[in-house]
Amino acid sequence: MSKKAYVRLQMVQWLMRRSVHRLKVKLRRLWLSKTCLLCGVAVIDEQPICEPCKLDLPWLQHGCQFCALPIPAGERSCHQCQQQLQPFRQAAAAWSYGFPVSTLISRFKYNSQWPYGRLLAQMLAEYLEFEYQEGRLIKADYLLAVPLANKRQRQRGYNQAQMIAQWLSRDLHIPLLYKTAQRIRYTSIQQGLTASQRHRNMRNAFRIVQPEQVVGRHIAIVDDVLTTGATCAALTRSLLAAGASRVDVYCLARTGFAAG
Ligand SMILES: [Zn+2]
Ligand SMILES: [Zn+2]
Repeated sequence: MSKKAYVRLQMVQWLMRRSVHRLKVKLRRLWLSKTCLLCGVAVIDEQPICEPCKLDLPWLQHGCQFCALPIPAGERSCHQCQQQLQPFRQAAAAWSYGFPVSTLISRFKYNSQWPYGRLLAQMLAEYLEFEYQEGRLIKADYLLAVPLANKRQRQRGYNQAQMIAQWLSRDLHIPLLYKTAQRIRYTSIQQGLTASQRHRNMRNAFRIVQPEQVVGRHIAIVDDVLTTGATCAALTRSLLAAGASRVDVYCLARTGFAAG
C-alpha cells in the first residue's frame, strides 16, 4: 500500500470512529432525557416524572395500620378494623385515590397506556422499600396478582394487576407466583354494590390450584385500587385456607369512605 493510500485509510477509519462516537452520544442523550408524564417538562431521571409533580401526588399520609384506609393523624386504625379486622394482616397503598393518581390509573387500566402503570408501580416499589426499611412492613416472600375471570381477561386482553405485580417483582426482587390462584366464579361487577353485597358476591370466588406454592409462605396480593377490600379478603381467605402463613395486600391507591 502506498503511503498516500495508507494515510487516506487512516483518515477514513478516524472519520468512522468519530461518527460512531457521535451516534453513541446522541443515542445516550435520547435514552436519558425523558419528559414528565404529568406536565411534559424535560427530566433527566430514572422516572418520567418531575419532582414538583411527584410531591404533588396524593401520598397516603395517615392510613389505618391494617387496611390503609385514610384516617386522621394520630389515630392508628379505622372504625371498621376496630370492629372487625380484615383477613389480610396489612394493606399498603402509596396514595389515597384522588386526582391525578385516579386519572393515571384509569388511563393505564382502560386506555392501555402502559407507561402510566409502569411509573406508578415504580413509585409504589420505592414506597414499599421505604416501609420495609422503617420496619412498618415485613417484606413478603412472594407476590400474587389478583386474577381476573377468564371471560373478563379475554374481553380486556390483559390483567392490569398482573402487570403491576410483574413490575413490583422486578423492582423489589420478590418472586411472583403464576397460575397459583384462579377465579372460579364470574362475579358480577362490584361497582355500585354495598360492602356486604360485595362480600357476598365474592364468596368462593377463588380457588388455589397449586397449594404447594403457598404453604407456610408470606404472600402479598397485588391489586391496583383497594376499595372495600372484598376481593382481596376473599383471595386472602382462600390463601390462608390453603396454608399460607401470612397475607398482605399491596396496591397503588386506597379509596376513602366517600368512594366506598
Ligand atoms: Zn411534572
Ligand atoms: Zn382499617
